[in-house]
Amino acid sequence: MTELAQILAARIRAHGPMSLADYMADCLLHPAHGYYTTQNPFGTAGDFITAPEMSQMFGELLGLCLAQAWADQGAPDPFTLAELGPGRGTLMADILRATKGVSGFHAAMRVVLVEASPRLRAVQGQALQRFAPVWVSAVQDLPPHPLFLIANEFFDALPIRQFERAGFGWRERLVGLSGDALAFGLGPVVPIAALDHRLSATAQGQIVEICPAAPAIMAEIATRMGPQGAALVIDYGGWQSLGDTFQAVQGHKPVDPFATPGQADLTAHVDFAALAAFAHPLAHAYTTQGALLSVLGIAQRSARLAQNLSGAALQSHLAATQRLTARDEMGTLFKVLALYPAHHPAPPGSH
Ligand code: SAH
Repeated sequence: MTELAQILAARIRAHGPMSLADYMADCLLHPAHGYYTTQNPFGTAGDFITAPEMSQMFGELLGLCLAQAWADQGAPDPFTLAELGPGRGTLMADILRATKGVSGFHAAMRVVLVEASPRLRAVQGQALQRFAPVWVSAVQDLPPHPLFLIANEFFDALPIRQFERAGFGWRERLVGLSGDALAFGLGPVVPIAALDHRLSATAQGQIVEICPAAPAIMAEIATRMGPQGAALVIDYGGWQSLGDTFQAVQGHKPVDPFATPGQADLTAHVDFAALAAFAHPLAHAYTTQGALLSVLGIAQRSARLAQNLSGAALQSHLAATQRLTARDEMGTLFKVLALYPAHHPAPPGSH
């Protein structure tokens, strides 16, 4: 049993079963035993590999997309260039390298990173030292300037609650104990106002998920953005989620989410319809990662980079291009939600 498992089991014995969201929150961000606070999740030696860690092209193309949106809106100065959950800082470093030549962009920007993990803040600081980034703990703390924002694999790390349809109500899936082991149980049948709109299209026993932190985060992004800005949210998921998408990954393999709390990455699919609705009154565009990267010119960029590569480096570059864009790989599993004030054009390629 991990130390965190013992802490959580003691809490459940004292106070009863906890929501899946509370379980995920402790597993991911417990100050002493949380996954993001203690582990080194990224890359081949870690537990999973994200798009920016796979290829520099991801950040370059999305950075230029944001810079074009900024230029299309009259190049506001100053503006906030923000990232939610920057991991190792690779995506932001690629964005900043690619946008160096965009006239006025670097002079006008303030780089702000929203990061909960002190350990990852230190890693990001090393990658981005030259750009004097500022860290904040939540979107509420972003400065009141035009906001150009990116979030890759951030929302999938936010805790979710799960509910099972029961008659015209719902039973929450709760984390309790079976003997000494952590296990799922079901709470009593209750009405859930936030799920009323799901009653017409769910069958008995089906599971729906909600992300309790998402409404406030999206509302805050919409308020901060006001009349100027754009946000790109990239993640796996779909347009309105249905079913159990909670998963644990360790060493690039799925594992039992209750076996090693604090040592496995826990995620759930992102419900983009919910994010778009919470971001009212911003306009939105929704596409796949593969489609967006193609429109932004990944084939041309990939061919250009390939000219200077050979052998294993070339193979791995071509494999990464394929993985980022191909159907049934990240190309269609990952979606992009672009948010922008309705009187401006959508960021290039997002429609
Ligand atoms: N965007 C990066 C890393 C994704 S992993 C990439 O593409 O490689 C998720 C990131 O979100 C980590 O940096 C993690 O520490 C951060 N994070 C998770 N939950 C958070 C929260 N509630 N508030 C702020 N940051 C959070």
